[in-house]
Amino acid sequence: MCGGDFDNVNLKTVGGSGTWAKHCNQCGGFWFEREPTEFLSIDSINKVDVPTPNYSLKQMDLVCSNDNSLLASVERDDLPAGTQYWKCPDCEGAFYPKGQLALMTHHNHDIHGEHIAGLVSARSRSTLAGILVFIGAALVIASGQRTEIGLNATSDQVLPSSGPNILTLLLLGITYLAGTILAVLGRKVPIVLVGWCVIIICLVGFSVIIFGP
Ligand SMILES: [Zn+2]
Ligand SMILES: [Zn+2]
Repeated sequence: MCGGDFDNVNLKTVGGSGTWAKHCNQCGGFWFEREPTEFLSIDSINKVDVPTPNYSLKQMDLVCSNDNSLLASVERDDLPAGTQYWKCPDCEGAFYPKGQLALMTHHNHDIHGEHIAGLVSARSRSTLAGILVFIGAALVIASGQRTEIGLNATSDQVLPSSGPNILTLLLLGITYLAGTILAVLGRKVPIVLVGWCVIIICLVGFSVIIFGP
């Protein structure tokens, strides 16, 4: 609208994904092809915008860059005074003047802080679960190869108890998985600690299998 150049900026959401916006170098406004439906990360917004209530934009006529429809001004009673942005009635486009995106984001974090903290903790939990399951799978595979060597050794050299059998490995894998579930999903500290103890014991078990007693 102001004729300025714009940069494409990737704004992180609290869930860890990102959303693209066009950020005008001249007026500092943000245009979204699709209005963000997830809460944006406050750190990500603070790098590009500063909360600024604005009372002088009310009469601005803006058109959608997708379909040239006249954008509708959004003013809601539940938003702080001086918050105003624009939405396209025909597509999901949205325009936030300079300062308004930060104002909205700070407001969302003030109002929905607890819910947002839950989303962030869910993300770190799933990252932790992913790492633990990956380590577990790698250990089972490494131990499995060790077991095959052990089985070969028994057939060649008639050593009855060299290397763990598949059942031991399976039980160890299941126990490790159970420990991971407790450590990641446990709501109380003692349960989480039990989970981590189980994981550590299983890691010792795996290392004994892989590296020998
Ligand atoms: Zn501009
Ligand atoms: Zn539109």
